[in-house]
Amino acid sequence: MKVQKIYIEKGLQEDTVIENFFKTFKHAKAFYIDDYRDVFEKVKKPYLKKRDSLNIFLAHKKGELVKLAPPAYGTPGTPHYYFVHAYNCIYECTYCYLQGHFQSPDLVFFLNYQEMILEMEKTLSEHSGDVWFHAGEFSDSLALSHLTGEWDYLWTFFQQNPRARLELRTKSVNIRSLLERAPLSNIVVSFSLSSEEAIKKHDLLTPKLSLRLQAMQKLQEHGFTLGLHFDPIIESVDFLQSYKKLLQQLSEGIDLTRVAYLSLGVVRFTKEVFHKVAEHYPDETFLASNLIKAPDQKVRYSRAKRQWILSHIQELAVSAGININKIYWCMEGESHN
Ligand code: SF4
Repeated sequence: MKVQKIYIEKGLQEDTVIENFFKTFKHAKAFYIDDYRDVFEKVKKPYLKKRDSLNIFLAHKKGELVKLAPPAYGTPGTPHYYFVHAYNCIYECTYCYLQGHFQSPDLVFFLNYQEMILEMEKTLSEHSGDVWFHAGEFSDSLALSHLTGEWDYLWTFFQQNPRARLELRTKSVNIRSLLERAPLSNIVVSFSLSSEEAIKKHDLLTPKLSLRLQAMQKLQEHGFTLGLHFDPIIESVDFLQSYKKLLQQLSEGIDLTRVAYLSLGVVRFTKEVFHKVAEHYPDETFLASNLIKAPDQKVRYSRAKRQWILSHIQELAVSAGININKIYWCMEGESHN
């Protein structure tokens, strides 16, 4: 990854994390700014420029630090929130909704973890039972985590608050800094997986399936709890066969009975993101494959088709040893027609 500029908000100069970035991106030039939004939100940079070079912003997250997740986002029966620790991603999945979300693919990392933790504490106090906090809504939660230094804060908070549950969602195999820590039962490292063929076709620049499986196996052997996301599932010739193979590959190295959950979701876009995907990846075959504009305004398969796909994959997962009670369908609630 080529990084030309690192923008640092004034006031963060002393943060040790900054040194990590300059050690890694030795040729990057430093620019000191008052507020990342003065540059990041003002500059329109084409999404695919991320292939040539990316700038990095080290900043302070303003506004809402912890947000309520949309309906049917996570395991049912528990409130779900996400916290925003970063914007944008080093990978390039062709279906990624980030390409229509920000006007620049540059990476923003928010370093005010203490404030995020205070906000999580406040949110937790508003509930009497368990509460989920998810990292990775606008970025991959592990890909550059060896540089960003949030684990100390997160581990202390989740150790002291067993009612709080953390999901670190990733396609990365950057697990070294996790393996240096004692696993906590309320922290789940969840991997987004597709079949080998689908990863090659759609998950550009991401670690290949065999490496992700190795990383998962290592984490489980070290006592970490794993979660699984088969999302987005994209219909193709033989896709059921390839998910059967994926489950077989998973079960060879991972005890699937110990997985915390499996979330299943089919490909879906807002209208804006769909147009961006068509512009950036005109050869993507899924663009022309049975997608409709659904009543909830999303571009997705019809409800009947989604149910067919999800129930068949679910059946395969159950046959592979995943308890049916641990499987949920993502974004398939009453409001998602
Ligand atoms: S890993 Fe996630 S955030 Fe990153 S490009 Fe792929 S879909 Fe987008």
